[in-house]
Amino acid sequence: MNIHEYQGKALLKEYGVPVSRGFPAFTPEEAVDAAAKLGGPLWVVKSQIHAGGRGKGKFKEAKAGDKGGVRLARTPEDVGVFAEQMLGSTLVTVQTGEAGRVVKRLYIEDGSDIARELYLSALVDRTHGGVSFVVSPDGGMDIEKVAHDTPERVHTIAIDPTTGPTDANGKAIAAILGLAGHLEAECVDLVKKLHKAFVEKDMAMLEINPLIVTTDQHLRCLDAKISFDSNAGYRHPEWADLRDLGEEDEKEIEASKYDLAYIALDGDIGCMVNGAGLAMATMDIIKLFGAEPANFLDVGGGASKEKVTAAFKIITADPKVKGILINIFGGIMKCDVIAEGVIAAVKEVGLQVPLVVRLEGTNVDLGKKIIAESGLNVIPADDLEDAARKIVKAVKG
Ligand code: GDP
Ligand code: MG
Repeated sequence: MNIHEYQGKALLKEYGVPVSRGFPAFTPEEAVDAAAKLGGPLWVVKSQIHAGGRGKGKFKEAKAGDKGGVRLARTPEDVGVFAEQMLGSTLVTVQTGEAGRVVKRLYIEDGSDIARELYLSALVDRTHGGVSFVVSPDGGMDIEKVAHDTPERVHTIAIDPTTGPTDANGKAIAAILGLAGHLEAECVDLVKKLHKAFVEKDMAMLEINPLIVTTDQHLRCLDAKISFDSNAGYRHPEWADLRDLGEEDEKEIEASKYDLAYIALDGDIGCMVNGAGLAMATMDIIKLFGAEPANFLDVGGGASKEKVTAAFKIITADPKVKGILINIFGGIMKCDVIAEGVIAAVKEVGLQVPLVVRLEGTNVDLGKKIIAESGLNVIPADDLEDAARKIVKAVKG
């Protein structure tokens, strides 16, 4: 689950992390009020969308110009003008794709004077089984480009989960970033605070790009991109208030209500499966037969009839879907439950596209019988290969 920059900074501030003062704004009037409260003489008007690269992004609308989604203002009037231009406009960045995102919120921040821009992030690093910090002296710009062109300038520091970041870890990071003296001490302190926030808030990723050295020689986090590990949602009721449904894929929201894992893809065959491994195998075999999956929807191990019905509705609501392949291995999940769910859903929403069903496992004969006797136009399949061949043929002719 992702949150906005201003929400991330408010959270980091609770941990004593240095961030600029700022206020979110939903209207140009609120933006001007925020500017007055901050006092100037420099303000930053920042588009809040769940995507990075805003500074170098471009708006589709001519009124917002091509100055990007993060702009420096030198008067409160300019804050109002920029807010007017950005709000309601569509910002396209390297991370949004062609469609871009409509800016509905802004963050008005006290402008900083920058001496250096650095890169610092923390993530769950599976190779060492703990949190690692990824750091580079080349901040502010596209870190993927830095990693590609000059990989020797990106370093990973693994943190021992039993101790958390030690002074030695903090000093190693400071050395990579070229921070000495009191800046080294600030870096050691910052790393500890960020790590504490990361662990306590169950983050999956925390990216500060740029971390800056101000002209008066202090560290400050100028940007904050945070995503939480959704699996820990049960112990964070406060996340409900941080969620911005306007930034999420509608079908993914619907799927999450039923605890279904839904991933949108680019092809035209909708896939309903159980288990991630079977999802991968199903996608591979669809590709092998020359087609592309439109999505995969994993109903999980112990789905109910209601869950299956919801899953089927989500798949059929996608206009990209020209055919559906249901591929279920009934282990804990029973094939007759799947069959009943599918039939209930087809009766409710209709069936405009070919549907191939392959069932195997517990109660498979009963499941097949239920589908055969339903009178619905379902193409039965015997095994995975047969199923993939049939759905690709039905869609491609
Ligand atoms: P991103 O483009 O989505 O990563 O947004 P950032 O928050 O990282 O802002 C983009 C760039 O705007 C930064 O790399 C800075 O160069 C610049 N910027 C952001 N805030 C300030 C500020 O307070 N003062 C100055 N001088 N530049 C800023
Ligand atoms: Mg940034």
